[in-house]
Amino acid sequence: MFSKYPSNLHTHTNLSDGSHFFEDYLMPAIKSGLKSYAFTDHAPIPKIECHWCMDANKLAFYKQEIEFLKSKYKNQIEVLSGLEIDYIPGIITPLDYKKHEFDILIGSIHYLKLPDNNYLMKLDSKLEHFKEGLEYLFKNDYRKAIDYFFKITAEMINIGGFDIAGHVDKVKMYIGLLFPKALHTDWYLEHEYNTARLLVESGVFVEINTRGIYKGLSDAPYPSWNMIKQISDMGGKLILNADTHDPQGVIGFYNEVLNTLKSKKIPFIFTRQNRQWIKYYL
Ligand SMILES: [Zn+2]
Ligand SMILES: [Zn+2]
Repeated sequence: MFSKYPSNLHTHTNLSDGSHFFEDYLMPAIKSGLKSYAFTDHAPIPKIECHWCMDANKLAFYKQEIEFLKSKYKNQIEVLSGLEIDYIPGIITPLDYKKHEFDILIGSIHYLKLPDNNYLMKLDSKLEHFKEGLEYLFKNDYRKAIDYFFKITAEMINIGGFDIAGHVDKVKMYIGLLFPKALHTDWYLEHEYNTARLLVESGVFVEINTRGIYKGLSDAPYPSWNMIKQISDMGGKLILNADTHDPQGVIGFYNEVLNTLKSKKIPFIFTRQNRQWIKYYL
């Protein structure tokens, strides 16, 4: 039977910064009619103190627990093992986890680090952390920060090693709040276009991430509607993910985003069903 909703392949448990343990997410996922569900906690990052990442010594247990749930729930939902892995040049790339053989890897950027400086600017933490990084690393020149974010994003895509590109324009979260006009400039739109093109050429799945909406930080998903349309028009592979941190959010804002995708004449996205990637027609 065809699924009512496309899969959710982006979830955090309390082994990283989610609120609950694995099975607490699977119950509402099955109830919602999802056919596949991936756990993708924040991968451990060596050398740095990452408060939202999994401890390296929990990785084996994490994988073991998911394998157990895969067989326990095999008649109800396809469970996938995964990680959300940062790209921080010189510290971590998604390629570092290739050998661990997870079903699905998400490549994401949560930090900006300049080559000659160990300071890590947090893009996804509190507003004051973002402001502090913007001042310290970029002397409050937000264009420089945005240019650098998209440069690092392009590097990550070119290096590869992941299946899904996570929230590819995350930088807009606080930029949109502090300098909303920046998101409508020609140079910003050029970044959007170039990133969309690179993503399509790379062949990775690009998630439409609803988390910004339900956190009240944005009225659009990541990436922007503009990028979503470009990626679809260029033949790219879009999927829908809720970036779930709480069992209530297993299909957070799916209905709203699916309706908007339809209204924007996006013909289809992709979903996981019966261990395959298939088209989900809108
Ligand atoms: Zn993330
Ligand atoms: Zn996430």
